Amino acid sequence: MTMAETTTATCICGSIKITTTQLPHATAICHCTDCRKFTGAIGAFYVSVPRDRATITGSPSAYTKKADSGRWITRSWCGNCGSNLFDVAEKHPGLLFLHGGILPVGSIPEPNMEMYVRGCERWEARYPHCIVFGGDVFEGETFEGETAT
Ligand SMILES: [Zn+2]
Ligand SMILES: [Zn+2]
Repeated sequence: MTMAETTTATCICGSIKITTTQLPHATAICHCTDCRKFTGAIGAFYVSVPRDRATITGSPSAYTKKADSGRWITRSWCGNCGSNLFDVAEKHPGLLFLHGGILPVGSIPEPNMEMYVRGCERWEARYPHCIVFGGDVFEGETFEGETAT
């Protein structure tokens, strides 16, 4: 019998932990304006995991707003230390979009998608092997996807 492999994400102060028993679905990078503001970086690095395979310990703070698409997105962070934790999107209620930086070093799969690349700085390079979208692929963005080399 094999034990389920667990990965634990934590904020800086350690008062919030998210333990998942399933490897991530996908890794995606988003360069949209809201992700820039929320992370304080120039892009967000998302690792999605099934919500029902994740256990959240502690009480994250949360903020909900309507995205460009008109759908709701709820962003969560630690109210004590300010670490960004995860997002939940109306369109994908079964997934937790963890902010990659809270996961242990070495646990994040290679990204396979970059969204809202029109929001990138001119000098930013594309990650290799990613499908690239000008806007948000999850919302059926019509911008043509192309694979970076
Ligand atoms: Zn904290
Ligand atoms: Zn975004």
